[in-house]
Amino acid sequence: MNQSTNSPASISQNLNKIAENCSLCPLNCGVDRLNGELGACGVNSLRISSINLHHGEEPPISCGSGSGTVFFSGCSLNCFFCQNYPISALKYGKEFSEEELIEELLLLQDRKAANINLVTPTHLSHLIIPVIAKAKKNGLSIPIAYNTSGYESPAILKLIDPMIDIYLYDMKYSSDQLAIKCSNVTNYVENNRESFQILIRSNNEIIEEGKMLKGVIIRHLVLPGQLNNTFEILEYLSAFKEKLHLSLMFQYFPAYKAADNPEFGRKISYDEYNKVLEQFDRLGFEKGWVQEL
Ligand code: SF4
Repeated sequence: MNQSTNSPASISQNLNKIAENCSLCPLNCGVDRLNGELGACGVNSLRISSINLHHGEEPPISCGSGSGTVFFSGCSLNCFFCQNYPISALKYGKEFSEEELIEELLLLQDRKAANINLVTPTHLSHLIIPVIAKAKKNGLSIPIAYNTSGYESPAILKLIDPMIDIYLYDMKYSSDQLAIKCSNVTNYVENNRESFQILIRSNNEIIEEGKMLKGVIIRHLVLPGQLNNTFEILEYLSAFKEKLHLSLMFQYFPAYKAADNPEFGRKISYDEYNKVLEQFDRLGFEKGWVQEL
């Protein structure tokens, strides 16, 4: 890739071209986002549910004053158990102009945010990347974290990679059957893993005084009754354990449409928790965090 292809202007131009016949995520809706057509993600603007300092991320992300999180509305995944469904599925939020968002990002930096944490940015990447580029010209210098469900198109991830310092990357499913059942998408695993390969290749982790400046954190939410899913993901990730931090999450509760579901309508049991921890230890993950049950 030459220098001009890596420039923010060129990346933004390419993203806009892709948004015209949208394949910004692997759903490949093919709608013209630039002319107002809506795809499955359902949002075509800088619609944001909240902007704030967040202290609940992993320690090197929330370090010091907190992570400067920007929660974008809408999502291309449609997980029936989504704990943020008012933001993702119901699209609660307020429209921001480019200028307003740039101002907010600089304000987060003034408030000593450790980073800018773009939460669920995939479907709006063609609008977000130009904002980041302009904010940088106006003095934004803290790391940019891309906080994603992991339903990423490898081509898009490769394109935006020069603009991103930190990935907070979900690995939700190890089988497409489970992805279809839970998130209604047929091609999660292939895209999730190919995109992961791109970001892990480009990762040269930098942590200074406990603060991540560059790096990859893989997040996995353990689902009730789905230990094989978790075990297969741990097995896959163990080959890369020196290059990533693994964040194992046990916070599942039956939100959104999962409440009455006979299979998913409960929390994780202690037995499941202990079995996952055994596997985590057996595979020798060196860097990471395990959420308490
Ligand atoms: S970003 Fe939205 S419109 Fe584009 S392919 Fe994905 S779901 Fe469809």
